[in-house]
Amino acid sequence: MQRPDHTYPLEAWCIRETAFDTESHFLDETLFALGNGYIGLRGTHEEGYAGPAGTSLDGTYLNGFYESEPITYPENAYGLARTNQFMLNVPNAKGVLLLLDDERFDLLEGTVHKYERVLDFRTGLLTRTVEWESPQGRRVALRSRRMVSFQNKHLFALEYQVTPLNFSGTVTLVATLNGVVKNQEAGDDPRVGSAISGPTLHFVESAQTDQLSLLLQRTHNSGFQLATATHASVDVPHTVHQARDGQRLEQRFGIVAEQGKAITLTKFGAYHSSRDYAEAELLQRSRDVLAAAAAAGFDALRAGQEQYLADFWQQADVQIAGDDALQQGMHFNQFHLLQSVGRDGKTNISAKGVTGEGYEGHYFWDTEIYIFPFFLYSKPEIARKLLEYRYAGLPLARERARQMSHEKGALYPWRTIAGVECSAYFPAGTAQYHINADIAYSIKMYLEATNDMAYMIQAGAEIVMETARIWMGIGSYDREGRFVINQVTGPDEYTALVNNNYYTNAMAQMHLNFAAAIAEQLQAEYPQEYARIAGLTVLDASEPAEWRRAASLMLLPYDEPLQIHAQDDSFLSKKVWDFANTPKENYPLLLNYHPMVIYRHQVCKQADVVLALLLLSDQFTLEDKRRDFDYYEAVTTHDSSLSSCIFSIIAAEVGYQDKAYDYFMETARLDLDDTHGNTHYGVHTAAMAGTWLGVAYGFAGMRVVRGDLRFAPTVPKQWQHYTFKIHFHGALLEVHVEPGRTTYRLLQGESLAFRHFGESVELNAAAPLKEF
Ligand code: BGC
Repeated sequence: MQRPDHTYPLEAWCIRETAFDTESHFLDETLFALGNGYIGLRGTHEEGYAGPAGTSLDGTYLNGFYESEPITYPENAYGLARTNQFMLNVPNAKGVLLLLDDERFDLLEGTVHKYERVLDFRTGLLTRTVEWESPQGRRVALRSRRMVSFQNKHLFALEYQVTPLNFSGTVTLVATLNGVVKNQEAGDDPRVGSAISGPTLHFVESAQTDQLSLLLQRTHNSGFQLATATHASVDVPHTVHQARDGQRLEQRFGIVAEQGKAITLTKFGAYHSSRDYAEAELLQRSRDVLAAAAAAGFDALRAGQEQYLADFWQQADVQIAGDDALQQGMHFNQFHLLQSVGRDGKTNISAKGVTGEGYEGHYFWDTEIYIFPFFLYSKPEIARKLLEYRYAGLPLARERARQMSHEKGALYPWRTIAGVECSAYFPAGTAQYHINADIAYSIKMYLEATNDMAYMIQAGAEIVMETARIWMGIGSYDREGRFVINQVTGPDEYTALVNNNYYTNAMAQMHLNFAAAIAEQLQAEYPQEYARIAGLTVLDASEPAEWRRAASLMLLPYDEPLQIHAQDDSFLSKKVWDFANTPKENYPLLLNYHPMVIYRHQVCKQADVVLALLLLSDQFTLEDKRRDFDYYEAVTTHDSSLSSCIFSIIAAEVGYQDKAYDYFMETARLDLDDTHGNTHYGVHTAAMAGTWLGVAYGFAGMRVVRGDLRFAPTVPKQWQHYTFKIHFHGALLEVHVEPGRTTYRLLQGESLAFRHFGESVELNAAAPLKEF
């Protein structure tokens, strides 16, 4: 399946497949997927795909729509996660079948004379053009265009056009809605999908007209209803037959076709679930959305889509001159992030977006540490929605804290959809308590970029303080009076259940100080609000001072002989993994060695200490950073896709320009080139965002230190120049970097202050441009 040389023509604004290729079919289904943060349609063909088993996954997903199942442990223990939630494969509503007389169009049969498929990042359209000859010699030109609306979360649209080239005769177009779907089985790879097999959606009712198909289903355990509906019409005289076979509904449009005359079928699809609306409303809402779409027509939706994307790119576009492969990777990643991110405050962004079932549609810390900054600085209103999602999860996080024997505070789940802990393997799940600090860190980033105290009062302060309390619950003072945090797992999942993971302790320190600062500020400036939040959380007046004390006495492991930060208390005394004698095919190690074998060694799956060097940048000297980088680079496998981008950023900072570039390239085209060999199960959203981090934090040296925005731009020698924009303090700033010259331009807003290599700069309407 993996095709390391897989590359589309290097175009900045699209990916283009120029031949139908069964070899890369599975992978292409992911790469050509469409989504709008809610609906996700894998890039399967309208007609389906009858290739060999295991070479296709015709998936349709709804972000946040899940089934739940009990997690059963052969050997139980108190407090283990009890319920898994997993994203469901929902009815396939995009199906269209084409019959030329009695011959069915199938890309695997007959002769494909021409084939092209384009996913365009500026229009949001997936367009396929085919010229095909049937086994009996009927030749047709086909063009299908598909989009998932950014303007209406519930809607997708497609247009399917067929032109008989060498015959006149009967053409039948069948618009299908297939409700008999199931999820993929995970097998041995924990990253693939859920453990459930068989259909998970059960029939409630259906209805049909000559244009409409409506199917209402329900989940068994999570108790949701889902309405899937389609509206199909054909633009030439035709007959229509409705047909239904169980949960498969279709309209068959019979047309007497003329050679050379195009026939167009337009189809709209809508998904509504009881996670959003009352059950009784679902069918009517579906009808309304489809009626409005059909009245507006495909072209109007297409225009709306283009407009939405024009606005997005106007704010978010990162231009890189001199490296076409990278430019394509960059846009591809940004586009997929936009397609993946939930923006209704009830959903988040899963590790694979809505492109596949990998990691079961779960949300992780990936959001706060990798993806959040991209949205915060490129499209802040979406970042705000991601924060809302966490606030909605606070009651369940409190409940989880009690289950984990913490009397106070809130503990967020390591992985989840609707807020319950879904991690069945606690050493690399629940034990990653750093999730609490990661969430607090994202709130701090948000506050520093927006100065939005109203948000802090409404939700932020409550999250930050409640989550900070957990450190007091799991930490304690040792005999030497140091604050220690034992039995946790840091970001590096090849080391588990350790004492004083550097990243965790350093982030907890940041978190405790931040929580105390917020408490102090509220108390001084908004006493009534403070009293309300303190009442709500039963906060004792002494707590903020205790947080400060724990933070100031926090143990931060440091190894004097090596002059590096130790990943934890025991990491450096373990045996170093025998990299020289580990065959290439044994990576990723997690698929080839028992966890304990891995845990016993000095070997990292991903950036851990190195990530702290980025997030808490001002706490380290450049020399510290260089030594830590050198040490941990030698023991890191980058088996997690979250790793390379962070190494790229620190490499850029410490002056390892070639390494910075190489690590960056690994991230930038990770999915396009399928370098991890598993993109067919879905894209890697954290790594995609890591590409943006690599430009802004890496090459442009952007940091926000105590609210102070800083840049230290460099240009990789492979590039001519690059440009990106960021929203900060209500302004939109463009940063353009070329060798020897950096230009800052204020595009929106009254004024903006920042630093360029330490020098203070202020732009305003009168002087919106500054060059260095
Ligand atoms: C990484 C985690 C990450 C998860 C989901 C794992 O392989 O080790 O850090 O949260 O994937 O992307």
